[in-house]
Amino acid sequence: MAVEQVLLAAPRGFCAGVEKAIKALAWMVKVFEPPVYCYHEIVHNQYVVSQFRDQGVIFVDDVNSVPPGAPLMLSAHGSAPEVVTDARHENRIVIDAVCPLVTKVHHELKVRAKKGYQVLYIGHAMHEESVGTMAVAPDAVHLIETEADIEEASRAIEPGTPVALLAQTTLSHDEWSGLVDLARQKFPDLWMPGRSDLCFATTNRQTALREIASRADAVIVIGSANSSNTVALTTVALASGCPRVLRVNAAEELPDDLTGIVGVTAGASAPERLVEDVIKRLNPLQGITTLETTKEDEYFPPPPELRDLLHNLEKDQAPEIGAILANDRNISATQVLEDLRLRSVEPEQPLEMKD
Ligand code: SF4
Repeated sequence: MAVEQVLLAAPRGFCAGVEKAIKALAWMVKVFEPPVYCYHEIVHNQYVVSQFRDQGVIFVDDVNSVPPGAPLMLSAHGSAPEVVTDARHENRIVIDAVCPLVTKVHHELKVRAKKGYQVLYIGHAMHEESVGTMAVAPDAVHLIETEADIEEASRAIEPGTPVALLAQTTLSHDEWSGLVDLARQKFPDLWMPGRSDLCFATTNRQTALREIASRADAVIVIGSANSSNTVALTTVALASGCPRVLRVNAAEELPDDLTGIVGVTAGASAPERLVEDVIKRLNPLQGITTLETTKEDEYFPPPPELRDLLHNLEKDQAPEIGAILANDRNISATQVLEDLRLRSVEPEQPLEMKD
């Protein structure tokens, strides 16, 4: 490989929602005897999921398969209302790690549906966030993936019915805006939230990538194939004119023939450790230049049920647990994952829970 320079996008990698979810699951692992259960992948990243598997976390696609009384976390992508209800049966200890920005879209959909709107929802059919969101008001929602879906919705919706437009949080801006333009033509009184549903983290990562993609001979996007915002980054890099765009899970997947200037970024669920490994493998002759387009300082605190649980635990039996709550803001998910990795080498005992 003869890479001259790496252009590194900033921001990249973990967003506030992913930080929150990873730390919350790590705190669960710390306070409960294994296994801790998690509905769906906590975030869409193979490395993160395998770190938790090594700690005895069992990932399930059906909450009813989780034994009564067991600790169960619901993933960052948001769950359908009936999944949340089923999860809470049988005394399971349920912590919902849904990102607050996904909750906002659930809320918008619920409110619009109650007001009699038909809702166009731009998203990907099989993605867990879309599935969970559309289940909030299935009779009022029309999934929009293509222009043809808008045409079909315009035929299906009775004239005079109020129409709103919402979206999956992690789409690429271009993919979203083309569909919005057509929806506005078809439904001139279309209601949309004051700020689009595309989340700040998705937008910031796309903006940062645009800065480097047009100057690079190739762009490496680090993240999993089922991560929507990662896939959106590859689309953005191609649309910016970069001739070669590769998504990789890890450094081992890099091809040997990369040359010239290589741009590097990572999806919102990809750990910085993977970025470091990729840069090490690229080994640029003229070093790394970081292009930072914005600083992110958003912080999402742990889920309220987890805060209550930790407070009770602290009061009852484990004062040291207070340190987790007090320090949550200052501990990064990267650090937490590194601790988990070390723990799998030298396992520590979980704190004992009382009945
Ligand atoms: S990408 Fe956006 S919506 Fe998804 S977890 Fe991160 S902040 Fe939340």
